[in-house]
Amino acid sequence: MKKVLLVEDDSVTRTLLKRMIEGFEYDVTEALNGKIAWETLCSGESFDLVVTDIMMPDMDGRELLHLMRVDDRFYEIPVVIVSGELDKNMLSRIAEEYPEYTRFQEKPVNKAALYNAISSLEDPLS
Ligand SMILES: [Mg+2]
Repeated sequence: MKKVLLVEDDSVTRTLLKRMIEGFEYDVTEALNGKIAWETLCSGESFDLVVTDIMMPDMDGRELLHLMRVDDRFYEIPVVIVSGELDKNMLSRIAEEYPEYTRFQEKPVNKAALYNAISSLEDPLS
């Protein structure tokens, strides 16, 4: 089973997303913020996909994405950004910087749309 690292500080949203992603038959590991997610990645556990919120304490989703994209170990892991705060300028900057393996999903998350976003990432989960 493919492994997803789910990064979200809000427990209600995290539980909802976990259920959705498990419904796609992926194994989900939860992280409560970017810092914990980064530590989890660096611990050596491998993941096929990261689904992350943007607005989080300690380390936000942008910083996590940046750390991943400049690190040889993680730069090819696809990332789906899930956020309620979809600032258009910020998103266009992220999309320009990291076009290949990054998708966006606006909150509230629709299950079919999330599945499409995951599926569109060049078949990373097959
Ligand atoms: Mg948040």
